[in-house]
Amino acid sequence: MRPKGTQAARLRQRKFEVLRRLKIPPEGLPGSLALTHRRCGKPTCHCAMGEGHPLWSLTFMVKGKKRVERIPEEWLAQVRRRVAEGRAFKDGLTEVFALNALLLVIERKQRGP
Ligand SMILES: [Zn+2]
Repeated sequence: MRPKGTQAARLRQRKFEVLRRLKIPPEGLPGSLALTHRRCGKPTCHCAMGEGHPLWSLTFMVKGKKRVERIPEEWLAQVRRRVAEGRAFKDGLTEVFALNALLLVIERKQRGP
């Protein structure tokens, strides 16, 4: 269950590099942040003349359902960092499994028909 060859060695090395850095971020978040603008409706507000007040929201999926949550401006930096952590972890996980699949393909070829 351990394919031989330089390609396999390269894939395995990459896998362990990714695994070494891969740690579940305890505060990681799914989804993505988006910025929209909304007018508050007060005719005297400065926003009545412009594009509106900035409104940040986090869009994410929970159990197959899309949810959108408004994010207060003062949370923005923190939430952005947590979303980045979540994405980096998911990307790493996806890469490890992809590398495992490529190693399986090599192993399968070495085994013969
Ligand atoms: Zn306004």
